[in-house]
Amino acid sequence: MHDPIGRRRVLAAAGGALFLAALDGCSSEPLRAERKATPATRVQLPPLRAATDRITRITVCTRPFRAQGPRLDVEQVGRKTIVHNYGHGGSGWSLSWGSSNIAVQKAMSTGAREIAVIGCGALGLTSGLLLQRAGVDVTIYAKDLPPDVRSSFATGIWSPDSRICLEEHATPSFKRLWEGMARDSFKTYQTFLGLPGDPVEFIDSYTVWDPADWSRRDSPSSDSRPQFAELQSKLISDLSPRTEDFAPGSHQFGARYLQRDAQMMFNLTAYARMLMSDFRANRGKIEIAEFHTPADFVSLRQNTLINATGYGARALFGDESVIPVRGQLARMIPQSDIHYGLLYKDVFFVPRRDGLVFQVVGENDYYGFNDDTTNPDRAEADHAVNTIAGLYAAKS
Ligand SMILES: Cc1cc2nc3c(=O)[nH]c(=O)nc-3n(C[C@H](O)[C@H](O)[C@H](O)COP(=O)(O)OP(=O)(O)OC[C@H]3O[C@@H](n4cnc5c(N)ncnc54)[C@H](O)[C@@H]3O)c2cc1C
Repeated sequence: MHDPIGRRRVLAAAGGALFLAALDGCSSEPLRAERKATPATRVQLPPLRAATDRITRITVCTRPFRAQGPRLDVEQVGRKTIVHNYGHGGSGWSLSWGSSNIAVQKAMSTGAREIAVIGCGALGLTSGLLLQRAGVDVTIYAKDLPPDVRSSFATGIWSPDSRICLEEHATPSFKRLWEGMARDSFKTYQTFLGLPGDPVEFIDSYTVWDPADWSRRDSPSSDSRPQFAELQSKLISDLSPRTEDFAPGSHQFGARYLQRDAQMMFNLTAYARMLMSDFRANRGKIEIAEFHTPADFVSLRQNTLINATGYGARALFGDESVIPVRGQLARMIPQSDIHYGLLYKDVFFVPRRDGLVFQVVGENDYYGFNDDTTNPDRAEADHAVNTIAGLYAAKS
């Protein structure tokens, strides 16, 4: 999930950086520009038809959070070499290419020419595709496939530091690792822009503030629990465009304040289908299989495995460092003229083409923490939709 609270702080502090994504591979320092208080243009957004009777589905899933960040080490179980690639919190899609690249390099160093990937979510699919590109024969073994994996129930936003680790574990070496993964992934995602079905695209995303919240926006958090790491604003701000502020009177939302930035969005239905069909087109094999303990891997012919089981690794490897963070999405009938996202109060709206997504994000990243329940909460879904609908109903 995108961390909108973090983003508020980021945007307030960043002051804006010129969008340098196009300068891929360029080693020059990012050019910085002062944030303009109010651009000359007026914002007039097409109205969103947000109504609870347009909800088509409510999905719930758990983010696989580890306080120390994703597990990427290598473990020997009997004759099997297992490269772990799980525990990416709310950043699994965003970091998938970079993280899987690391896992693939470790798996390739065994010299194996036939490798198994366990899991077919964001991390399993990208691991499989990268292994194929390296010339390896790959079979994915998984209990579930998209669209029934947890990855399919994500928001679908570039959020590379969302619940990726706790600040106290963000050591200099972790930061280097994370930055490498994030930049590698970002670069790969640019190659999916403009494809049929728009698997990946950029949208404008607006944070809407009531006047009282605007004046308090830089206040420090009063939550005394350990903070989640905020890495995006500190390490890769050059990948984000300049934030723009819109004062009351320069938009349709009355006395409120508006901030606009651009976000990369993943239309997960089209994107996951594309990854699956690319994998199959490269002669990748997929087998449905469930493993209950690592000893079950003995039945596999491959001796090198990448373990991309996400939250499933908690039970499979008895890894209790994987903590569930519950997240629920209310999906709504798509609206073809809506290409902007909104964050208002505790609700985030994303204009996915495969269904508009409304989500209660809570006060901070502890929302849903250590909650593995997956039963849909209709009242939460209605609250999410009604909060956004309220923006269009009233002027302030
Ligand atoms: C509400 C919500 C919103 C999110 N939004 C975003 C977002 O906007 N951007 C972002 O980057 N990230 C987001 N995330 C996080 C992201 O979804 C996860 O980090 C990511 O899905 C993890 O992918 P994965 O491949 O590790 O796990 P999964 O998608 O869970 O895949 C695991 C695979 O392993 C298989 N498996 C598991 N256990 C076993 C077993 N014992 N035997 C056989 N197979 C097994 C499963 O069947 C599945 O195929 C969000 C998460 C949630 C919950």
